[in-house]
Amino acid sequence: MRHFFARKGLLSQAHPNYEYRPGQLDMALAIESALADRRHLIVEAGTGTGKTLAYLIPAILSGERVIISTGTKNLQEQLFFKDIPFLQTLFVDPLKVCYMKGRNNYACRQKVYDAQREPILHGMEELSDFRIIRDWEQQTESGDRAELADLDESASVWHKIDARSDLCSGQKCKQFDRCFITAMHRRALESNIIIVNHHLFFADLAVRDDAYQGILPKYSAVIFDEAHEIEDVAGQYFGMSVSNLQFQELIRDTSALSRRKFFSTPDLDRTLIVLGDRAESFFSLFPQEGRQAYRGRREFLGNNEPLYRELIFSLVLLSNELQEVDDAPEDLVPLVRRARLMQEALEFWMESGERRYVYWTERRGRGLYLQATPIDVSSVLAERLLEKVDCVVLTSATLTVAGSFAYTESRLGLKNARTLLVESQFDFSKQALFYVPPHLPDPRDRDAAHHIAQEIERVLEASRGRAFVLFTSLAQMRAMHQTLASRLPFPVLLQGTAPKTALIDRFRATPNAVLFATSSFWQGVDVQGEALSCVIIDKLPFAVPTDPVIEARAEAIREEGGNPFYEYQIPQAALALKQGFGRLIRSQTDRGVLVLLDNRITRLRYGKVFFDSLPAYRFTNRFREVEDFFNV
Ligand code: SF4
Repeated sequence: MRHFFARKGLLSQAHPNYEYRPGQLDMALAIESALADRRHLIVEAGTGTGKTLAYLIPAILSGERVIISTGTKNLQEQLFFKDIPFLQTLFVDPLKVCYMKGRNNYACRQKVYDAQREPILHGMEELSDFRIIRDWEQQTESGDRAELADLDESASVWHKIDARSDLCSGQKCKQFDRCFITAMHRRALESNIIIVNHHLFFADLAVRDDAYQGILPKYSAVIFDEAHEIEDVAGQYFGMSVSNLQFQELIRDTSALSRRKFFSTPDLDRTLIVLGDRAESFFSLFPQEGRQAYRGRREFLGNNEPLYRELIFSLVLLSNELQEVDDAPEDLVPLVRRARLMQEALEFWMESGERRYVYWTERRGRGLYLQATPIDVSSVLAERLLEKVDCVVLTSATLTVAGSFAYTESRLGLKNARTLLVESQFDFSKQALFYVPPHLPDPRDRDAAHHIAQEIERVLEASRGRAFVLFTSLAQMRAMHQTLASRLPFPVLLQGTAPKTALIDRFRATPNAVLFATSSFWQGVDVQGEALSCVIIDKLPFAVPTDPVIEARAEAIREEGGNPFYEYQIPQAALALKQGFGRLIRSQTDRGVLVLLDNRITRLRYGKVFFDSLPAYRFTNRFREVEDFFNV
């Protein structure tokens, strides 16, 4: 490792801007030993550590097959298209590296060919987008839509030709050997380093068992970057979900296919109509707003069991009718599989009563989702991952609370893991000022909004815009934006008015811009330099206590005799605050002010945990110091 990372090592010779960072070398050495000794390791690496090289180099040198899992596709692409080509210049032999994304990122060749013959495209825009895809399909090697810079992110045509498993007939497909998904699996089999994202990793882990190999080939170690996200992602994949939209899509796809492939019959049409009616009536029985815990199963069944049974019956009938189609086209296989999976999911949700799950409903747009999420992800992770793979490395800039890994270890079920805390290379006491206005009312007070708006305005005047104003709820973001947008003499951007990357690009390119956003901008956003000189957060980012998953997890801690506020809610909020403030200082020359409009952090005893978890910013509660900081 020293050969690479030392002051005059290979990296500094290969890269003119390479800076020697002792923390980076420590991290690389720790990962090298974890891989060699077959041990789990948790590394908190402060911003500026250079952690991607600190795990890629030991992973490559191990000679084993290592999965690198990132939180975002952006980081995945950065590793594959930037870091790996750079590292290749340091190695004589070609590096065996590939990346894998979820199937919906790739085109399905069969669907592209079908679309040329069958009337599935609507409108001029879809037709012209389709022409771009059709030409590209003939020359792309990967089939990854990220190559299609000209295709709008929201292009509706992509959904009609992507390689989701929903309509894939697998080995029965004529294109199977040329399929982009088959090619992706082949590349993975030939690779030592496979770069995935957490969603793909946990989708694989959820289906992988002793009999079924899963999507990823056998591997000997996993390195999770942005590992603070894995409890949430694992919870999604080890849980269960079924929605009204799945029913609508199944009916639509079956009906369209039956016409295209000439197996439509009056009986099948009737089955689809009845299934649609029953699904609509069934899903209308659930709360039609927000996320809500679902506790009244017995009562629900008492009142509605006939409708539920009829819905299940309709699904079974559809599966049977599809299986009886003469000379069935291969495209029928995935439809039957979908109907079965939906039946299983619905039966589990309605009947299993498994106490390890929290059951809840959620309305998102036109979708009504019935969800079951494991209350304790740690035991599932331990059983499915940590006891099966003997070297798992977790890294992120936010894993410790008040200097301790205990919270992360307990949430993820890590026992006896090695730990390493690498301090950031930045001089936070000089580069950043942390301001908490002492005079503001408690943010939960009714009249707080007026005072908060005034304070935001005052800070933005001092910073001359150049700020992210981050809110803990969409409602608060919209209300503040409405109050302030016309009052501020700066260009104001608002989350939701354009895709995230477009907004960030606009923010970078617009002098003195101010961005109003919520938690989705708290991570994975990197704006270096003066464009971002101030980060304002409206209040301590406690998760909503009435959220069904949070509530169930807090209740489980209480039942075990613990204190959920101190053991769960405070650590979770401390990590979120650290993550949000982490947007500000991204390089050794960045400087700026962090503002928290919630003085519970200084008034209440638990505030110490937040202070102890944040880097050593210079602290003030005097506005004058903020002005002075910006006037230097
Ligand atoms: S195997 Fe599946 S994804 Fe691949 S081309 Fe065929 S239908 Fe499409």
